[in-house]
Amino acid sequence: MLLSIQKFIFLLISIIFGTLYFLFIYYYVAQQEKTASAILRVINSQMLETSYHLSKSIGSVEDVVSFRSMLDRIALNSDFIDSIFIHNEDEILISTDPFIRKTISTNLIFNDALSAYDKLEQIEAIEEDIRIYEGKKPTLLKLTFVLDKDEIALYFSDKQSTFLLYFGFIPAFVLIFLWFFLRSFVANPLERLRQFAYYQSDVPKAFRLKELETIRYSMVQTFQRLENEKKELYSMARTDMLSGLANRNALEEYVERLIFNSSREGKEFAFLFLDLDNFKDINDSLGHNVGDELLKKISSIISEALRSNDFVARVGGDEFVIIVEKYSSIMELTATVERVQKYLAQTWIIQTHPINIGSSVGIAFYPKDGDDLISLMKNSDIAMYEAKNRGRARYHFFTEELNKRVQDTISLDKEMRKALLNNEYRLYYQPKVDIKSNTVIGAEALIRWISPEKGVIPPSIFIPLAEENGFIAELGWWVVEEAIRQYCLWRESGIDIIISINISAKQLLDKEFIYKFKNLLDENRVNPSRIDIEITEYLFLQHTQENAQVLHELHSYGVTISLDDFGTGYSSLSYLKRFPVDNLKIDKAFIDDYDSKSGAIFIETIVKMGQTLNMQVIAEGAEHKEQIDYLKSIGCDQYQGYYFSKPLSVDDFKTLYLKQV
Ligand code: C2E
Ligand code: CA
Ligand code: CA
Repeated sequence: MLLSIQKFIFLLISIIFGTLYFLFIYYYVAQQEKTASAILRVINSQMLETSYHLSKSIGSVEDVVSFRSMLDRIALNSDFIDSIFIHNEDEILISTDPFIRKTISTNLIFNDALSAYDKLEQIEAIEEDIRIYEGKKPTLLKLTFVLDKDEIALYFSDKQSTFLLYFGFIPAFVLIFLWFFLRSFVANPLERLRQFAYYQSDVPKAFRLKELETIRYSMVQTFQRLENEKKELYSMARTDMLSGLANRNALEEYVERLIFNSSREGKEFAFLFLDLDNFKDINDSLGHNVGDELLKKISSIISEALRSNDFVARVGGDEFVIIVEKYSSIMELTATVERVQKYLAQTWIIQTHPINIGSSVGIAFYPKDGDDLISLMKNSDIAMYEAKNRGRARYHFFTEELNKRVQDTISLDKEMRKALLNNEYRLYYQPKVDIKSNTVIGAEALIRWISPEKGVIPPSIFIPLAEENGFIAELGWWVVEEAIRQYCLWRESGIDIIISINISAKQLLDKEFIYKFKNLLDENRVNPSRIDIEITEYLFLQHTQENAQVLHELHSYGVTISLDDFGTGYSSLSYLKRFPVDNLKIDKAFIDDYDSKSGAIFIETIVKMGQTLNMQVIAEGAEHKEQIDYLKSIGCDQYQGYYFSKPLSVDDFKTLYLKQV
């Protein structure tokens, strides 16, 4: 059982009080008894003395009267004796009180079981024999002392009140004071401490007891510290450590509140998603220190470019969300965006490195483009990507059409992967024709997606997406395996041609690729020189070193390498020396243009260059007889094009091939 301090003090005081009163009563009763027996003793001895004196002095019954004055004196002198009389059996012979005419009937026998005090209470009078001798004849008289009961009672009650004063009231007062002090110095402060500990409401005022005050003081200190830590945690959970801007948590809270208010007031606001252009490159080339410092500077400049009631949060490495609430027109809003972008576009000097960085911004509106954080985030992000696609360092508004495009891309992404599992891809083959002999010497494998729902889907729809999201590694490997399998089948049936396979830059960067590729050819005992790889100029621009190495390795293994879509890229001719290129494929755009002066100059230059560099030159997309004649006249080696054949299914290709031999 738990005892409250209040109760404990009360109990303690009760025990002290009870003990004191017990002692008091015990002592009081003992005192009373002592006093009573003393009184009795006094009366008794007076009685004995008087009776003895009378026995000796009284000669005859008649003499008794002469003792009246003596008895009067005794009665008067004694506080406890009211009157005295002497009687024989029949009548009162002498009395100090004239009103007593009859003997008082009293229980004169001392009962020894009674206490002295009780005896004194009960006895009215006491008697003693007086024996007198008249000659030889004894006479028995009785001497009676009538007790002064009032006087005795008064004596005791006097004593009683004195006792009560010393032993009753004073301790009672002391205890009440004790109770009061303990309550106000111990019990109440403790209760206040308890309340403080529980509710941390009002800070209790200083206490007077040292220990309690120490506890109170340390509690106040502790709570203060906890409160500070709580505040610190609160702000830490809402602040981005690097930039000091709001973080995603803070953004969530802010947007929740803003949406609540805006929906009530029927207002809109702009949700801006800002992403730095090519920030990753800076991080990669100059290191994270520089990147972090740049982010810090950029964060503070964004805040500077905004008005005080605009909100900005850093939500990812180089991603920021800006919320602009009050703008009178779209012009004012775009002016804000442009100001931010202009501020950011300055040349930053970070650890002596001059850095130029752009930013792309996507803009979505509440509630038009989204009525919660997730959709605003998603749609402003879609708009931001569009800004990037359109050449970076610009802003773009979210539109439904954009959204649809993104949704289509997402579903295409899913379906494209499913199609591989469902075996919906096929390779078509377009003949490569030797111009001089007009015979098929090879075929380019071109992928087709035969969708059960949508029919034949051309690669231009899904290859760019596959390259963007990395699926090309998987899909491209399927193409390689399928093309090699087909090569082997044809080889068995006597169709021994060179197969060209399109390999995208991403595939080539896969560390496993070359190992897997060689393995596949070795397992199928394919002569590498019968396989040709088509690459594009983009390969030269990024990861130049790694790509050159892989191509050299493939080349020395024995496969030939064709440079696809030649003339459309930005690469300089110097790459043709660094990379092991065997064939140049002139893009269809130039072949289309063969009858203009500039077109003809370009084609002829390439053909001559090919001859000097010992490369085969292949014309792409030749559709007319005139084109073939022209190509033949300038000494171009091969062509591909609808004039000879479109890309064909395996069966159609076989039929066509067998027809020409
Ligand atoms: P590409 O490698 O330049 O392929 C040549 C494209 O030109 C093919 O389009 C072909 O059908 C088309 N073509 C050939 N002759 C003519 C002609 O006389 N007239 C016209 N108008 N077009 C002609 P396709 O098959 O639609 O392929 C498009 C692109 O998709 C290819 O361009 C290639 O870059 C890519 N691609 C196709 N298959 C694969 C593959 O398996 N892997 C990779 N990475 N890319 C592939
Ligand atoms: Ca090609
Ligand atoms: Ca091409």
